Amino acid sequence: MSETTNTHAYVLPVPPQASIAVVGSEKRFPVRRIYCIGRNYAAHVVEMGGNADRDPPIFFQKPADAVVASGATIPYPSQTQNLHHEVELVVAIGKGGRDIAENTALDHIWGYAVGLDLTRRDIQSRDGKPWEIAKAFDRSFPVGPLTPASDLGFIDSGRISLAVNGKVVQDSDISKLIWKIPEIIVRLSAFFELAPGDIILTGTPDGVGPIEPGDRLEAYVNGLEPLTLTIGPKQV
Ligand code: MN
Repeated sequence: MSETTNTHAYVLPVPPQASIAVVGSEKRFPVRRIYCIGRNYAAHVVEMGGNADRDPPIFFQKPADAVVASGATIPYPSQTQNLHHEVELVVAIGKGGRDIAENTALDHIWGYAVGLDLTRRDIQSRDGKPWEIAKAFDRSFPVGPLTPASDLGFIDSGRISLAVNGKVVQDSDISKLIWKIPEIIVRLSAFFELAPGDIILTGTPDGVGPIEPGDRLEAYVNGLEPLTLTIGPKQV
């Protein structure tokens, strides 16, 4: 882990610390890195034209400042004609580590929230991998308030859903994750040293689709605070 200090003087104002609200607290969760899992529900792999037996889940990242709070209106992003919603269970890491073992993985979880992995699907399809401009753009991670794991226990099942303008378009269950949450932590920590403040998006179920300016999204995971988002006019 690199050395950090807050005693330097800086040539520019220090950029704001990205953070997420916490249920029942005035304190916020500071965001360090945002890791995402692609292709982690079989029915979504199939709807994207893949094969869940052959194509394993993959990792990518979003920048920390992609965070958008629940209740916000965001502009329809630039350079896309096919912005897609992906509702996901979000895991917040409170204790770091590398090469974390499966039987201790849950000890690293600080809390859970509902999030959206907003995606420029046309660019993802056109450019292939890496998914940087399809996935890691400004305001691409709306997220609801975090509920501490100490209040909830471990989430390994429960309804996950998304409604657009009141119509349910994604509706599945956390139990259908291909890589379960402890396994995600094991695999991710083999490649990256996890640290407090890291966020993991666990993947989207099937039913992804386009959203348009003026749309209102409501995202749910059983037991968590909902996330709402409104899509504003196209960026010019
Ligand atoms: Mn996703």
